[in-house]
Amino acid sequence: MRNVIIIGSGCAGLTAAIYAARANLSPLVLDGYEPGGQLSITTLVENFPGFPEGIQGPELIENMRKQAQHFGTEFKSGAITSVDLSKRPFKLTAGNETYECAALIVASGASARLLGVDSERKLIGHGVSTCATCDGYFFRGKEIVVVGGGDTAMEEATFLSRFASKITLMHRRNEFRASKIMLERARANPKIEIMTPVVVEEVLDVSKGGVEGVRVLNTDTKVSSVVPAEGLFVAIGHDPNTKPFVGQLTMDANGYLVTHEGPKTNVEGVFAAGDVQDHVYRQAITAAGSGCMAAIEAERFLESHHS
Ligand code: NDP
Repeated sequence: MRNVIIIGSGCAGLTAAIYAARANLSPLVLDGYEPGGQLSITTLVENFPGFPEGIQGPELIENMRKQAQHFGTEFKSGAITSVDLSKRPFKLTAGNETYECAALIVASGASARLLGVDSERKLIGHGVSTCATCDGYFFRGKEIVVVGGGDTAMEEATFLSRFASKITLMHRRNEFRASKIMLERARANPKIEIMTPVVVEEVLDVSKGGVEGVRVLNTDTKVSSVVPAEGLFVAIGHDPNTKPFVGQLTMDANGYLVTHEGPKTNVEGVFAAGDVQDHVYRQAITAAGSGCMAAIEAERFLESHHS
């Protein structure tokens, strides 16, 4: 039986852990599928206040982890598979392990969506990427493909044009979800060629262990073609990691946790922080801020219910 369990070890979870640990709550952090969250797969972070020269994402997250440990946070690896939030103490299951806690902070983040073609998964890290900031540098002077029609795709294509010699921006519809200004910026970029309406059928070539091109189907003409490329950036959004909470915590239409009065969920004693409840700002600093708020609210909740 724990005072506080924090699900997730990204920026939000670790900030919550620092605050909860300093409040003598001896928090337990369950690491999740991607320990360190999205910062752990980023390169230089230039907009986290306090680092005028910037700081590498993995270093920033490692510092936060050490800081949380320093004040007495316990860490366990494992991702939550099911929860029972119908009564207190809350019950959590992660594989064969079960946990009980008086207060819960959900900071399980959001994961990049994939297209779902087999070859894409096989070539992740071998030319297929979901993070332009992390991997753009590897594609200097090369031809690449970016898939998506939202702001992320526009932003990544524009960013990648610093490195790549040519970018084909593929989208499945002729209309774009992206904001006008970002779409126009991509359209005006001489290195970016926009291709619609196309769906990716296959990433070539798994047998060679790297990306050599992308086979796409034009859904209007029903004609397939191959676009040569050495990299594929999938920029089709993120999905919040909320599956274990379905039916127990209130979510919006996209599965993000709904919070009120800061980090409070619909279940008293359960709080949410970071990208799992924020699809708008999605920044390290806002995740950290909401982690802090969740820990303070958890502390207040425990004080009023358990002392
Ligand atoms: P969005 O959900 O806005 O867009 C996702 C895009 O990917 C859509 O065009 C969608 O197509 C396409 N897509 C989704 N699934 C598939 C699939 N399986 N195959 C092919 N295409 C697919 O996500 P974003 O990450 O772009 O943006 C999320 C939020 O973050 C938005 O609110 C955005 O404004 C914001 N943001 C803001 C930025 C900024 O202002 N600097 C930068 C980045 C994001 P379709 O349109 O057909 O559904």
